[in-house]
Amino acid sequence: SRVPLIAGNWKMNLDHLQAIATVQKLAWTLKDANHDFDAKGAEVAVFPPFTDLRSVQTLVSADKLDVVYGAQDVSEHDSGAYTGEISGAFLKALECTYVIIGHSERRTLHGETDEQLARKVAAAIRHGLVPVLCVGETAEDLEQHGPSAVPVAQLRAALEGLSGSPEIVVAYEPVWAIGSGQAATPEQAEQVAVKLRETLAELFGQETADATRILYGGSVKANNIASLMREPNVDGALVGGASLDVAEFASIARFQK
Ligand code: 13P
Repeated sequence: SRVPLIAGNWKMNLDHLQAIATVQKLAWTLKDANHDFDAKGAEVAVFPPFTDLRSVQTLVSADKLDVVYGAQDVSEHDSGAYTGEISGAFLKALECTYVIIGHSERRTLHGETDEQLARKVAAAIRHGLVPVLCVGETAEDLEQHGPSAVPVAQLRAALEGLSGSPEIVVAYEPVWAIGSGQAATPEQAEQVAVKLRETLAELFGQETADATRILYGGSVKANNIASLMREPNVDGALVGGASLDVAEFASIARFQK
C-alpha cells in the first residue's frame, strides 16, 4: 500500500527567513496533532524556492524534523556553462528528497517542452532525486480532447525513455483548477489517476504502477482533501496557495479518510 504524500509547492513565496519560521511551525503543528490524534500520518513535503533550501536543510537536520523537502525545478544538465541553472547534484548535496518537474507554470511561462522534461526527469533520477512529474490539461484541452488524453500523453512523453522500475511521483494538476478555487471533483481526479496508473503499468509493469504515488493538485484545501483522498487512486496532494498557511496545510496533512 502507498504512503500518502502531502506536498506543499510554495512557488515564488517565502524567503529563507520566512521558510525557517514556516517549516518550524509546520513541524511543531504536525507533531502536536499526531500526539493528540495518533494520526497515522502522510509523508509531508515542502518545496521552497532554491534560495531557501540550505536554511531548510539546516533546520530539518538539526531538529530532526519529520518533514522532507525538494526543489521546484532542476536543470537537465549536470554542470557547466548554464547561467542561472541549478544542478540535481547541488540539490542532492542539500539532501533534497524530491524535485518538481514540469509544473504547468514552467510549461507555459518558460516554454518547457515534453522533450526537455524527459531530460529533466532523467537528470533527477541520475542524481538520486525522486521526480514529482506534473501533468494536466487546460480547460481548452478538456473540451477538445476529454479528461485524460493530454495528461496521459504528457506522462508518456516524460517517462518513455526510462527503464526498469523508476521511483517517481506523478502529480495530476488540471491547469483550470490551479489557483482558481475550483478543484476537480474527486470523481474527475480518480478518473484521470486511473488512466495515469494504467499508462505507468504499460511502461514499467503493474508492480511499479501500483507502487507509484499519484497526487492531485489544484485548489486543494482543508475542506476538500478528505473527499479527494477517499478515491482509491489518489495518493496525496500537491498544494499551492494553501501550503503557505501553516494551520491550513497541517490540517490538509492530517486529512481523515
Ligand atoms: P493551488 O493549490 O494554489 O491551486 O496550486 C496548485 C499547484 O499548482 C501546486 O503545484
